[in-house]
Amino acid sequence: MSKDFSIEQKVMVDKQIKARGIKDKKVIDAMLNVERDIFISDREKDYSYEDGPLPIGYGQTISQPYIVAYMTEMLKLKGNERVLEIGTGSGYQTAILAEIVDHVFTVEIIEELGKKAENTLINIMNYSNISFKIENGRQGWLEFSPFDRIIITACPYEFPENLFDQLKENGIAVAPVGDYVQRLMRYRKLKGRIVKESLIGVSFVPLV
Ligand code: SAH
Repeated sequence: MSKDFSIEQKVMVDKQIKARGIKDKKVIDAMLNVERDIFISDREKDYSYEDGPLPIGYGQTISQPYIVAYMTEMLKLKGNERVLEIGTGSGYQTAILAEIVDHVFTVEIIEELGKKAENTLINIMNYSNISFKIENGRQGWLEFSPFDRIIITACPYEFPENLFDQLKENGIAVAPVGDYVQRLMRYRKLKGRIVKESLIGVSFVPLV
């Protein structure tokens, strides 16, 4: 039987998420519902609810819980959205989104990671509102566009502008940009124009 981390998880949500100002109840509930340890390898399991990123293989990481919660809150989700996620990674952020929204379309460039996340989310966690694709996410996912929201969980030097064509009017995109110095940015499409806002300093693996 696997270890029960429910106390660690609740402490994580109290100290790392609520205490740092995350208020959206949908985000808090999702962070309480999704067990992060499911996405963590046996070697790192005991650190599943610590305050930082962890390795998931192939030089990639599962994001810090707070960053996942913060980016999700910045998307201002109501629940009826179709969301494009670029950088499936472990699938943890994907699960948080799938708890809240109508459908998540997630793209991962490393096949092994994408397949593993798909197995975790579909076969172990039974989500039925996630579509997976192995490809360079810079193309977006034209077939299912436009999206209400776009989230990129790896860092491009500049936001890939072509993705704005796949964002609906009044849509929101959240992504890190930069290289050594990275900022989390939020973009809104208002009357066809993109209005951007710099949020916080972050540290992500690069977007290939
Ligand atoms: N939210 C994920 C973060 C994973 S790290 C989690 O919490 O687990 C970022 C992921 O983006 C990595 O898996 C990496 O392989 C992927 N990635 C990098 N460049 C990409 C690209 N151009 N298209 C799709 N995925 C990409």
